[in-house]
Formats: sequence, C-alpha cells, structure tokens
Amino acid sequence: MNGLMNGKRGLIMGVANNHSIAWGIAQALAAQGAELAFTYQGEALGKRVKPLAAELKSDLVVPCDVEDIASVDSAIAVIKEKWGKLDFIVHAIGFSDKNELKGLYADTSRDNFSRTMVISCFSFTEIAKRAAELMTDGGTMLTLTYGGSVRVMPNYNVMGVAKAALEASVRYLAADYGARGIRVNAISAGPIRTLAGAGISDARAMLSWQQKNSPMRRTVTIEDVGNSALYLLSGLSRGVTGEIHYVDSGYNITSMPALDTLRT
Ligand code: NAD
Repeated sequence: MNGLMNGKRGLIMGVANNHSIAWGIAQALAAQGAELAFTYQGEALGKRVKPLAAELKSDLVVPCDVEDIASVDSAIAVIKEKWGKLDFIVHAIGFSDKNELKGLYADTSRDNFSRTMVISCFSFTEIAKRAAELMTDGGTMLTLTYGGSVRVMPNYNVMGVAKAALEASVRYLAADYGARGIRVNAISAGPIRTLAGAGISDARAMLSWQQKNSPMRRTVTIEDVGNSALYLLSGLSRGVTGEIHYVDSGYNITSMPALDTLRT
C-alpha cells in the first residue's frame, strides 16, 4: 500500500540521531507521504536532527526541552503558526539518571523519581493536551514504552515505574479524546541499541537475552517499530485506541527462558 499518510502532517519528538526509535518511525511515515516536523533537545542534538529532517524533506525543526513547559508551548506555537492544524504526534522521549538505572529500585532518589516522571511520563500528557487543540479533524498520538512497566527487568528501576504511569496515561488520554476522533496508543518496544538504551546498566546482556529467548529469536529494529507505528498512526488502525502494542519479537508472552538456551 502506498500513500497511507498522504496529506497528513505530524510532529516527531525524540530524534537524537539515526539510531533513535523516533527516526525509524519518521522514515516509515515519510515513505508513506507524511509531512513531518521535528523537535530536538538542545543545540548539540539540533545539529544532528536538522540534516536528518532534511533527508525527509522537512525544514520545520524546533527546539523543545520538555522539562521546561515554556519550551513545549513555544514549539507547539511554531507548529500552530506554520500549519494551523496537526494530524499526529510521536512522543519518543525518556530520561532518568543513569546512576539510578542500576542497583536497587528502592534506592531511587526523590529528585530523580520526580525528574524521570516529568520527562518520561507527564510530558506526554502536557504535549497531548496542546496537540489535541490542533487536531481539529481528529488525529493520532503515539508514545513509546517498555515491558519493564509490567514486569521487573533488571536495572530498569524507576523507568519501569514511569512507563507504568505512561501506559495508564495512554488509556486515560484515549478516553479523554476518543469522542473527538483522536486516538492515543503506545508501542512497547523490545530492547534496541540507542543512546537512551545505553544508559541502562547491562544493556548488552538484555539485548542478548532477548535475542536468545524471544519466540522469534531476534531483537527488534527501529524499522520494525517504524512499521508498527505507521499502522497505529494511520487509518489502518482506525478502530484502535488506548492500546499498548508490543513490538518485541513476542518476548512479553514468554514465562521462562527458551528450552534450547537452557540446554546449552
Ligand atoms: P534516544 O536516546 O534515541 O531517544 C530519547 C530521546 O529523548 C532523545 O531524543 C532525547 O533528546 C529525548 N529527551 C530526553 N530528555 C528530554 C527532554 N528533557 N526534553 C526533550 N527531549 C528529551 O533513545 P530511544 O531508545 O530511541 O528512546 C525513545 C523512546 O523509546 C524512549 O521513551 C524510550 O524509553 C523508549 N524505549 C526505548 C527502548 C530501547 O531499548 N531503546 C525500548 C522501549 C522503549
């Protein structure tokens, strides 16, 4: 199918480089005709994001640090001024102090708990509220989560708690906006080697475990996530909202290590 996103305009938040999940999503959307705008966090990342955006024929690239609500407001104001309306948003933003992405969850500090929650969870709600105002003909919203929200994953700690809250936010926002024709979903991706992923202690071991023990015996790529995002952001999923859609080679359905790995 071609042109699934023809005539649709959307904001991609969370590209840091060409390994970012948001970049995989942006490529899949652009290939189907979407017109994209991008945000970046800080000038250093801006230097990487602008040429990537240009590859997808986008020159609407604005700074946005979600810790600062004025920065969110001004990014949304630029979109409003340039486009007037919005059809979709992708929120692929997460952060926690890497010193707390190891050891005991119980040792999480109050400051990092709050910061992790604001950046990785509440920012989606704040952005959704503002984006919904621009989705005058309905729209779609997507965020990124991880299975550490529902099951304990080593070292994921406070990020798991923030992702659990983010997933609950998806359901509440879907209920808030459903009657306005705005759908809200999340993709729960398996581990992928990215900047954020590298902040989690023993990330390499997690990737190897997933590769050996998921039903498909492989890790997922940003292209895998991009294609599923295309489904959730396009009319293909028009009856779907409030869902947490796993793109993890089936790892979430397993209850024990694969027998072949136990035997070797
Ligand atoms: P990434 O490092 O490429 O992207 C993370 C993005 O968050 C970066 O662009 C960074 O600039 C942005 N960000 C962090 N703090 C911010 C702030 N204060 N304001 C604005 N932006 C901020 O890594 P990624 O793995 O592509 O992460 C994207 C999303 O996917 C995150 O929510 C992450 O938790 C989630 N996720 C990642 C994996 C994985 O294994 N990599 C798995 C499941 C879910």
